[in-house]
Amino acid sequence: MLDKNCVFCRIVRGELPSGKVYEDDKMVVFKDLEPKAKVHLLAVPKDHFKLLEEADSERAQTLAHMLLKIPEIAKSNGCKNGYRLIVNQGDDANQTVHHLHIHILGGEKLPE
Ligand code: 5GP
Ligand code: ZN
Repeated sequence: MLDKNCVFCRIVRGELPSGKVYEDDKMVVFKDLEPKAKVHLLAVPKDHFKLLEEADSERAQTLAHMLLKIPEIAKSNGCKNGYRLIVNQGDDANQTVHHLHIHILGGEKLPE
C-alpha cells in the first residue's frame, strides 16, 4: 500500500525527484537529500510501512531481498571498503520519515 502523504511513497511513484540509483519490483534506492557521509543512500521498500514489527511474511521477504541486493548497490555507488547500515525505528531513534528505510553510509572512513 502507498500513503499519499508520505514523501518516500511519492519518490517510489516518481512524483518527486530523488537521485535514484537503483529500482526493481520490490525496492528503490536513492541519494539522501542531506548526506551524512560521502556516500549516503536510502533503500526503501515500495510497500509503505514504518516499523520492522509491521512486517508479515511477504514484507520479510522484501526485507531479505533488500539486504541481499545492498552489497552490490553499495559497491557500485562508491562504497569500496565497507559501509554502515542504519534503520531508525520510532521516536527515540528520531525516525523522521515513517516509511521504513535503510541508510547506507560509506565512501570514506566513518566515525567509530
Ligand atoms: P530518518 O531520520 O527518518 O531515519 O531519516 C530520514 C532521511 O530521509 C534523512 O536522512 C533525510 O535527509 C532524508 N530525506 C527526507 N526527505 C527526503 C526527500 O524528500 N528526498 C530524499 N532524497 N531524502 C529525504
Ligand atoms: Zn510511504
